[in-house]
Amino acid sequence: MKLITYLAQGKEQTGVIGEDRENVHPLPWTDMQDVIESPWETLCETARTALSGNGISLSDVTILAPIPRPRQDVICLGINYRAHAEEAARYDSDAFAKEKPVPIYFSKRVTEAVGPEGFIESHPGLAERLDYEAELAVILKKTARSVSAADVPDYIFGYTVLNDVSARALQTSHKQWYFGKSLDGFTPMGPCIVTADEISFPPELPIFSRVNGELRQDSNTGLLITGIAEIIEELSSGMTLLPGTIIATGTPSGVGMGFDPPRFLKPGDVVECGIGGIGFLRNTVR
Ligand code: MG
Repeated sequence: MKLITYLAQGKEQTGVIGEDRENVHPLPWTDMQDVIESPWETLCETARTALSGNGISLSDVTILAPIPRPRQDVICLGINYRAHAEEAARYDSDAFAKEKPVPIYFSKRVTEAVGPEGFIESHPGLAERLDYEAELAVILKKTARSVSAADVPDYIFGYTVLNDVSARALQTSHKQWYFGKSLDGFTPMGPCIVTADEISFPPELPIFSRVNGELRQDSNTGLLITGIAEIIEELSSGMTLLPGTIIATGTPSGVGMGFDPPRFLKPGDVVECGIGGIGFLRNTVR
């Protein structure tokens, strides 16, 4: 299932995308969190019924981020593709050198996620060296505590695309990355959640980004240094992860700071981030 949150006649609604990919069929929930927490069989049956009814043309609605207001900060992985580790260390070895062979976890505040065609805010005067990071995001469906790697697939609701927009000057001038990752308008997400039953585990999907049509990132989600099963096994060994938790798994090489000279974003730039089988975001910097 491809699930979306959309705006129609001023109201937020969840829906399932039809086979033709041109229509959305409304589900009886307004909040994606309730979709995620529904028993799986109930959701499948409800979606089947919805798909047998009339849909609404996608051109008549505004697609929002699938989880527009996450209940908790997004959990992020830093430096989780080898080639990105190299480019980041070249850019600023103090800020990005990975001293230990353990995952870098950080969090990203998302008061309101940006929809797949929404705007990335440039925060002039505050956010210098604006950068993009295409990432595969994992969404959990049930409470996870002490989950073994082998059982992790049972805990995954689905996957989406997330652009971990970063203000590099803020990110690297503070000891922690939190502020430089968490400004308003820094988390485009979507366009849909593809449920986990449609993607074999672990996901090995092409991931890319483009800026003004030029290919910048071009990799595969099978190349994560720390895989999804290990991430969730480690975090859940001491933290309770709740349904609806979003984990952004890190970005491949080709971000703006990786170029020499760096190629940061400016107002008017159009950033596309996509993953094969899920879809893509197309956001304009303003
Ligand atoms: Mg990132």
